[in-house]
Amino acid sequence: MSDKTSAVATSPSGDPWLLTPGPLTTSVTTKEAMLHDFGSRDKKFIEINRRVRSSLLNIINGQDDFVCVPLQGSGTFSVEAMLGTLVPRDGKLLILVNGAYGHRMAKICKYYNRANEIMEYPEDQPVSISDLDAKLNEDKDITHVAVIHCETTSGVLNPIAGVAEIVEKHGRSLLIDSMSAFGALPVDSTKIRYDAVAASSNKCLEGVPGMGFVLIRRSALEKAEGNAPSLVLDLYDQWVQMEKTDQWRFTPPTHCIVAFDQAIREFEEEGGVDGRGGRYASNCKILVDGMRALGFQTLLPDHLQAPIIVTFHKPTDPKFDFQDFYDRLAERGYLIYPGKLTVADSFRVGCIGRMGNDDIRDALVVIKETLNEMGVTNCASAAA
Ligand SMILES: *Cc1c(COP(=O)(O)O)cnc(C)c1O
Repeated sequence: MSDKTSAVATSPSGDPWLLTPGPLTTSVTTKEAMLHDFGSRDKKFIEINRRVRSSLLNIINGQDDFVCVPLQGSGTFSVEAMLGTLVPRDGKLLILVNGAYGHRMAKICKYYNRANEIMEYPEDQPVSISDLDAKLNEDKDITHVAVIHCETTSGVLNPIAGVAEIVEKHGRSLLIDSMSAFGALPVDSTKIRYDAVAASSNKCLEGVPGMGFVLIRRSALEKAEGNAPSLVLDLYDQWVQMEKTDQWRFTPPTHCIVAFDQAIREFEEEGGVDGRGGRYASNCKILVDGMRALGFQTLLPDHLQAPIIVTFHKPTDPKFDFQDFYDRLAERGYLIYPGKLTVADSFRVGCIGRMGNDDIRDALVVIKETLNEMGVTNCASAAA
């Protein structure tokens, strides 16, 4: 941090720091990878595409039993494609919900006319494994269970290993949305039993937005022909065509893929999930400790907090106006995120992306200065 208190902070590419859950700050080298054009049938591009798919399988130790099906679009496209492709028309999906992304899955089922049921928990609590056990005992129509790894609505970590154990015990199929956790928290397919996990290029793998992917157990995908009610979101067809021709069915997001290739290389150089997750965990701890020292209260107790994004209660001090706080931080080069909770007035600060511990410390200095400028003296919240 420079001694000029009004200095504008910038990332190495001169951009604001994105303290958000995605898109997020990417490395200069990842952005530079996009300074070239590639033909979709170009040998070089095909090789890069193959490498990206293979590297993604390595992250879950899935080379033997899983396939990687990439898909154009934001992460939700991949979640929708996963549900539409893997839940058969006569199947029934049980969705474990503790935030907006779980509800979004239910909405997808409604569009697709797929039988579904939700088991809902408050946004500041994980989903319950014992409830799931009881539910699967009682409802034999349920064929698939879906769970969100880190519910980005609040930042709460769900117990996916425990969920997977119960789903396996009952012989059902588990689908995981690990969008905001993939690359930072383990979803090792040799340790956790599931049939598919969906994620995207622009969260913890620090690529640019534009594509998602679903890693699917080959035996589950082989049975999924004809399930999907949408051509573009049919992962079975996407997979079969890509295996056959090495090409995407429709115009591939070439620049996004070459940037993703570079981002994955940097992820591997950082030490994979352990290295990336370790940096985010220390970012998260510095952020939470620093904000608490300023008087802020977190929504979640530490043991439920995933090192991805932190929800803070809005201070009750009348001088604290979130929009004003947001705008002032944006002027100083830090973009934070509004809250998405239904239970409490809050805002969120992300700890993921190409940011180190010192960048978080710098952000805390600016947050403190900003509160002083606003005349906010008490950051406590009555709701906490
Ligand atoms: C980001 C995210 C998604 C996908 O969101 P998009 O805006 O479509 O990229 C899905 N699930 C979770 C848990 C997420 O954090």
